Amino acid sequence: MSVTSGLGGLLSIDLGALARNWRALDKVSAGALTGAVVKADAYGTGITPSSKALYAAGARFFFVATPDEAIAVRSALPDAHIFVLGGLYPGAANLYVRQNLMPVIGSMPMLEEWLAKCLERNEAYASAFHFDTGMNRLGFRLNEASLVKQRIETLGYAPQMIMSHLACADQPNHEKNRTQLALFGSVMAQFPGIPASLANSAGLMTGRDYHFQMVRPGIALYGGRAVVGRKNPMAPVVTLHVPILQVKEARTGETVGYGANYTLARDSRLAIIAYGYADGFLRSASGSNTRPGAKVVVNGRLCPVLGRISMDTSIIDVTELGDNLPRPGEGVEVLGPTLGVDDQADAAGTIGYEILTSLKGRYTRNYVGDGNLG
Ligand SMILES: *Cc1c(COP(=O)(O)O)cnc(C)c1O
Repeated sequence: MSVTSGLGGLLSIDLGALARNWRALDKVSAGALTGAVVKADAYGTGITPSSKALYAAGARFFFVATPDEAIAVRSALPDAHIFVLGGLYPGAANLYVRQNLMPVIGSMPMLEEWLAKCLERNEAYASAFHFDTGMNRLGFRLNEASLVKQRIETLGYAPQMIMSHLACADQPNHEKNRTQLALFGSVMAQFPGIPASLANSAGLMTGRDYHFQMVRPGIALYGGRAVVGRKNPMAPVVTLHVPILQVKEARTGETVGYGANYTLARDSRLAIIAYGYADGFLRSASGSNTRPGAKVVVNGRLCPVLGRISMDTSIIDVTELGDNLPRPGEGVEVLGPTLGVDDQADAAGTIGYEILTSLKGRYTRNYVGDGNLG
């Protein structure tokens, strides 16, 4: 690939694939509404174009983490239903009302602030309630459910939805899933008739028992692996090519990169690429003599990173390419059909989520396809 539209590399985001992924998940969760989680800049893919493509594919319910993200979705989609997973940020009630955002309320102070706004305006503004069934993260504790219920009943208020979040959905056989499912059932029993939502991508794939009235996939929309140890059925959405800056010869016994923690065992040819940890190439994917690092695709071949990944550059072993050496300016694939988000995650000892949300580097973004055609 020649780097023309972006000298610093090219991140290509396939909105058609994104739309196809949403539709595929919507089929799996037939009978439930399929939301779309677009927090963290739509997992690094761009919150505005991705939200529009998801809307064109049919999504109407959007989940973001923060008020700023919610405003971005609201500007792009005037009639989307928007849930803010971080809840009601203190002091933000007027903003939520003005922008028609639904806080996912998970504590008594949040609830009181929202109800105070409702009373002040004499309007039952929509919200969702989050109950913590076993993460000790956001959400009311289960023993607060009856208090919450009493409080809203005296006012005649009801949430649009009650929800919880699974801690171990990526491992479908983990017993915590059944426990959380049962606890969520006990909360639902206290809020009869209110739509319920429990499943993220992995929960959606785990089975119907987890779907209820709304599913909330994120990672699977963006092509990432949701369930561990299973073939990932989703279409890849991101492709990233970065340019080679220099190709050089190096000798046996010489060291490579910071810390000199890789020593060449043979005369080698090295390609220096314009891609470092400031671009999202996690430093934990560095290679040493004792632990292999990430690979990238050069001229159709997998080539390993040698030594530590630097801020702006990484060093690739292209010796195996023989006479088929790449030239400066040529692009190498660091994410794409050959090396997916989860391959790079495995190499870095992390998860695809972190690879995607680290995509904020110094390359040009290019959107291909569209939500209608996907
Ligand atoms: C991020 C998030 C999701 C989406 O999770 P994925 O694993 O990316 O599908 C769903 N629900 C909540 C509460 C979240 O925080």
